[in-house]
Amino acid sequence: MPSATFAKPHTGTVTLWSGTLIPTAREAPSDAESPSHILLSRAGYIRKLGAGIYDYLPLGWRVLRKVSQIVREEMDAAGATELLLPALIPTELYAGTRRDVDYGDLLFKLTDRKGGTYALGPTHEEPITELVKGSVTSYKQLPINLYQIQTKYRDEARPRSGLLRGREFIMKDAYSFHTAVDGPGGLGETYDKMHQAYSNVFKRCGLDFTPVEAEAGPIGGSASHEFMVNAESGEDTILKCPATGYAANVEKCEIGPRNAPSKGYFAGDPSGALDEVHTPGCPGIEDVAKFTKVKPQNMLKSVLFHVKSTPEQLEKFGEEYILAVVRGDHDVNEGKVRDAAGVGGIELADPAKAAAVGFAIGFISPRAARNADGSAKKGVLLLVDRDVALSYDDAANKPRFWMTGGNKKDYHVKHFNWQRDLGTDPLNATPHKPDTHPAAGLRSTDNFIIVADVRNALAGDPSPRAAGTALVTGRGIEVGHIFKLGTKYSDAMGFKILNAQQQSQSVIMGCYGIGVSRAMAASVEQNHDADGIIWPVGIAPYHVIIQTLKPEHIPTAKDLAARLGAAGIDVLIDDRDERPGVKFKDADLLGIPVRLVLGDKALAENAVEFKARNSKDKPVNIPTEQIVDHVVTALT
Ligand code: ATP
Ligand code: MG
Repeated sequence: MPSATFAKPHTGTVTLWSGTLIPTAREAPSDAESPSHILLSRAGYIRKLGAGIYDYLPLGWRVLRKVSQIVREEMDAAGATELLLPALIPTELYAGTRRDVDYGDLLFKLTDRKGGTYALGPTHEEPITELVKGSVTSYKQLPINLYQIQTKYRDEARPRSGLLRGREFIMKDAYSFHTAVDGPGGLGETYDKMHQAYSNVFKRCGLDFTPVEAEAGPIGGSASHEFMVNAESGEDTILKCPATGYAANVEKCEIGPRNAPSKGYFAGDPSGALDEVHTPGCPGIEDVAKFTKVKPQNMLKSVLFHVKSTPEQLEKFGEEYILAVVRGDHDVNEGKVRDAAGVGGIELADPAKAAAVGFAIGFISPRAARNADGSAKKGVLLLVDRDVALSYDDAANKPRFWMTGGNKKDYHVKHFNWQRDLGTDPLNATPHKPDTHPAAGLRSTDNFIIVADVRNALAGDPSPRAAGTALVTGRGIEVGHIFKLGTKYSDAMGFKILNAQQQSQSVIMGCYGIGVSRAMAASVEQNHDADGIIWPVGIAPYHVIIQTLKPEHIPTAKDLAARLGAAGIDVLIDDRDERPGVKFKDADLLGIPVRLVLGDKALAENAVEFKARNSKDKPVNIPTEQIVDHVVTALT
């Protein structure tokens, strides 16, 4: 009687090139610039259908399935379970979270025949929260961690580099639900497990990566890490401390201590009058530098932010602003500004509104934080980066002057000195404690000036973790991102449960994403040479390519493939009737780890020609009866 077996031993796949679709090409598509875009297109893994929209051809789909399988195994092992949610999301679901507004143009929106509106899911916090909210009512049902592998849609402003930034792409997204952050079953525990699972996934995918501390971004929450594939072509800048392994993205990276308070601060009286300079049509630092021949390092860049307040805060405190001041050649870091000020959210100030309260955007000086009589302007906090918080230059033993805005359109001033012209040396100002600061109550305190780390870190900056060590930079491709979300979505969607004390409480969430299709492309960015792709074994579409040089060798190739297949090895047989040169070039382009060639000479010796794609060694003849063992050894 035939019986279905409970578990089948893994057998490798054997595919004939002539029976599948592998359209290799000599030329890359004209818009392809990055190695992965060029090579995946030329080698017949992907094909563009529209901007940021790609066909996954049989080879490409095999790689994606292998990446997905690794993701599944590691997620399952970490206690998560798989489900699948719709990609089509009714807009009503965004009523509480306002994601349709927050995501802006990134969201693909559509309307059905009855006028109902929908979005194509860019990520799935709302649908998953809706699902779990409808099924979980008690702490006894938590924690739970659910994931899916699904096509996502984002109308990226600049889809680029093939699969690296698509408008339709494959993501693994997981969401966990908890009653507590700490302790057994808490968010922290699951977050740590996910961190480990992500490291396992990317290791098994053969990627060289760095987990970095990251900002929570538009999803919000309190902690997050990004997993960055180290690649020069990456869009993201990573900073690392070589001494401690601390790594962070540029949005998040802290900078170690800079500029101790000046010793000579009281010693000198600045001479050199505050000179007004007419700088017509020069709101930007670069323009002013060119026009006045003052180096950007000697300028102050003042950026005005508006504090986002709740209606209650607005009623209590009125509109509030933060003026962040960094060196002309530095960039203000919005997250650092927000955190240093101790407020919930900020945005760049609207120029018209700012003008009404006395700020000439493009020409602002720190003096704009003072009233004409020298008192602090209500509702304005001045945040000064450490690198510019200098009134006195100890080394040169003279006052430190800066070029800054003239506080009116088309004017700048030279010889600004903090102590003389603001009446306060920033480094000697009373320290500000954000935690004692009412949420948006900047005006309720007279320490209107704070010195803090409010700029983006750069290579060479002091490490925040090891004194005397400088940060180094690298480029990366974000392939994974894990967040501690907190109660952002559960609160917005009214998801509460009864806790052990029978009290109703908000559910605490985490979310965890992996760019499956981006990881495939990132692997090619890292693993290629002038001839083509060099797949890591774990995600190669096939482990072995067997090439026949004559049609009469095809049966031998099939026999050999069957033996390899029985050992769990995936084999592509290049049975095309092509010149050897063409076949060898294609094999290099495809990047399959092992190439076996059946030629007359080797076969006469009862051997097969073996070559590893990742080695420069010449092909060697291996006796046919040893070939399976030889390949297995080469692949492990
Ligand atoms: P990015 O900053 O690159 O736009 P993101 O931070 O907006 O990405 P997440 O919301 O964190 O992306 O999504 C989880 C993962 O999905 C990312 O870590 C990335 O690997 C992948 N991903 C995001 N956007 C794209 C895209 N347009 N194409 C391919 N993969 C993407
Ligand atoms: Mg991200």
